[in-house]
Amino acid sequence: MSASLLQRSLAAVWHPCTQMKHHETLPPVPIVGGEGAWLVTEDGQRLLDGISSWWVNLFGHCNPRINAALREQLDRLEHAMLAGFTHPPVVELSERLGALTDGALGHAFYASDGASATEIALKMSVHAWRNQGLPQKNRFLCLEGGYHGETVGALAVTDVALFRDAYAPLVRQADTVPSPDARRAVAGESAADVARRAAGALAARLEAEGEYVAAFILEPLVQGAAGMAMHDPEYLRLARALCDRYRVHLICDEIAVGCGRTGTFFAHEQAGIRPDLLCLSKGISGGYLPLSVVLCREEIFRAFYDDDTRRGFLHSHSYTGNPLACRAALATLDIFAEDDVLAANRGRAALLGRLLAETFSAHAAVRHPRQRGMIAAFEVADAPPDFSRRFFAAAREAGALLRPIGNTVYFMPPYVMGEAELRALFAAAAHALARVLG
Ligand SMILES: *Cc1c(COP(=O)(O)O)cnc(C)c1O
Repeated sequence: MSASLLQRSLAAVWHPCTQMKHHETLPPVPIVGGEGAWLVTEDGQRLLDGISSWWVNLFGHCNPRINAALREQLDRLEHAMLAGFTHPPVVELSERLGALTDGALGHAFYASDGASATEIALKMSVHAWRNQGLPQKNRFLCLEGGYHGETVGALAVTDVALFRDAYAPLVRQADTVPSPDARRAVAGESAADVARRAAGALAARLEAEGEYVAAFILEPLVQGAAGMAMHDPEYLRLARALCDRYRVHLICDEIAVGCGRTGTFFAHEQAGIRPDLLCLSKGISGGYLPLSVVLCREEIFRAFYDDDTRRGFLHSHSYTGNPLACRAALATLDIFAEDDVLAANRGRAALLGRLLAETFSAHAAVRHPRQRGMIAAFEVADAPPDFSRRFFAAAREAGALLRPIGNTVYFMPPYVMGEAELRALFAAAAHALARVLG
């Protein structure tokens, strides 16, 4: 029975990103099945997954093709350690990811979650400079409002007070530079103008302390956890040039914006640049299994290549390159290739934009409606303090999973949503907004 599963869950399971006491009024939703863009609750309600289950599920729940690939892999090899061993899925995945960067980032290091990918990229950057005789390069720069995960190392470059303040004594905080968030435009300024202004501040910071900076980390095009803050690709071009000039690694955290989310396979492609280090996770396994990967340039890889173990990259993780997770990622990349998903998503994104405009742009409480590829978002003016939870509850009643960040309502649907489903998702959102504001 639903009540008993719920009671057992509340007693034994500590949920992430949650004040557990809030579950007294808004209990977690027991999910027992999934099919395409839908989740099925224990009492038989079908919920449209409007945020791809925290941005991970790209091709629907229980996708038949990914399921088949995993079954096949399961009967061959479930896991083998990657220190001293290798196996077909990890080799194939590394080659294919490198090829997706046109060979620019041809070396892949694996972990299981996004925060670990961030930490690996930070460690790799500092250690590469140290191996090159520049040990003073050990500081990081990040963007205001940037989010790169919540382990103690990743919190150093995560500028979200709520997640960081309680743990501040544990964290070696990086310096933040102004966000190129296009919402910051003053009268007459374009998004590209905001980008140039923010890049000016980055230039000043690098001029002052560039010799001590190892890396600059950012989420290209869309700062997700900051509330889907979007910026012009011009910022990435200018940041790339500045990083080259001051010998600073550019780390693109594409954990949320990679895998086609912004319209191109990698978000940084829209600026015509390549980072030095690239972090992927979330959608890379289709939302099936925990997997993350850091791709790096040849020069960085070379900086570690030596007879001395201490000059090697020192990061050990038991499940590195897990064959099942790599197979899920390969099946995900197969779907991109076989179905020409990026092309199909252009039509889907156009509909997303139309629905955003039709349903919300003229709404009196809606501010900054915006879109980049398969992400649409807006702010709600004068939202009540518990807006996010109330909106979530009202959307659930209307048959949709939507979970605003503060007063930012956003849509990040899986790439299998059809027109009728997208329309139903926006209808549920409109119902929820009316319910919460009314
Ligand atoms: C989710 C996210 C992370 C952290 O990934 P986890 O797997 O949750 O640790 C890091 N960076 C960005 C941009 C993210 O969206």
